Amino acid sequence: MVAEGGITLFTDGRYTEQAKTEVQSAQAVISKKGPLSAAGRSMGRKRFGNRASKSQTLGIEGQYLTVAGRRSLSDELPRHIRVREAPPLVERARMVKDADEIRAIRTAVERGAELFNHALKTIRPGVMETEVAAEMEYAARKDGAEGMAFETIIASGARSALPHGRASSTAIVSGAFVVCDFGVILHGYCSDRTRTVYVGAATAEARRVYDAVLASQQAAIDAVGPGVKVARIDQAARKTLQQNGLAQYFTHSTGHGVGLEIHEAPRVARGQQEVLRPGMVITIEPGVYLPGKWGVRIEDMVVVTEQGCEVLTPTQKEFIVI
Ligand code: ZN
Ligand code: ZN
Repeated sequence: MVAEGGITLFTDGRYTEQAKTEVQSAQAVISKKGPLSAAGRSMGRKRFGNRASKSQTLGIEGQYLTVAGRRSLSDELPRHIRVREAPPLVERARMVKDADEIRAIRTAVERGAELFNHALKTIRPGVMETEVAAEMEYAARKDGAEGMAFETIIASGARSALPHGRASSTAIVSGAFVVCDFGVILHGYCSDRTRTVYVGAATAEARRVYDAVLASQQAAIDAVGPGVKVARIDQAARKTLQQNGLAQYFTHSTGHGVGLEIHEAPRVARGQQEVLRPGMVITIEPGVYLPGKWGVRIEDMVVVTEQGCEVLTPTQKEFIVI
């Protein structure tokens, strides 16, 4: 809890030792009845400035607090304290990464990217998607990753047309793409990369769609630079697909910020007004999904620089046939 009098971390008995060693600039309170109830009670006891009698506001992060959690908190709060959703102050502060953060992200991206080699070794007709994910995740852990940044997506056959097809027990078939979207957490920072490969003899249409997605991604990357509105990046990706008659099959936004969390501000999407600044790290990930058939997505992470941007993800993106 951040208040006028200082910062307090409320936690429970499981974290007594960890709080002692890890919490440096806040007071740690170990509570028996749950951290939210303890925070509520503490708010009730505190006097903030000379305005204790007037109504006061407690800002909560609506994205993280459940309805039940909010109730635990409110039950303990005196009536003059209102609970409101706080503006995204932390998220905004986190958008621009400092040099140490970019270094950490760079390492996570490089190590995460290597997992694709394990995917390439495993993808064959008849192999389950989960087997591919398992090989990648095992390699990540062996390499010291603290975890996967999100549930590994291995989407084969018609499932590759699902933008978020988490690895399932489906066996990989010939005659379609396999979308591999994966990332690791290393030193607290996430990586996020997508590569799409074709299994079997590739048709002209498969190559055409792949090239269109690649061109769309390149157009978006070329548009990234300081002072550019994120909506412009999204537009660049969409425009290229439109020229290829594929815009209607691109059904999600072009990218997102990445850092301590896999999805951070800014959203790189239609209508988003955020302006890029040096130090922002975003993904560029257009895709084309032909329902019932297959899909293609290519995703890289880029850091905005003073001059333009630097692609953090190793770049090889040629059409791969297995
Ligand atoms: Zn991804
Ligand atoms: Zn992503």
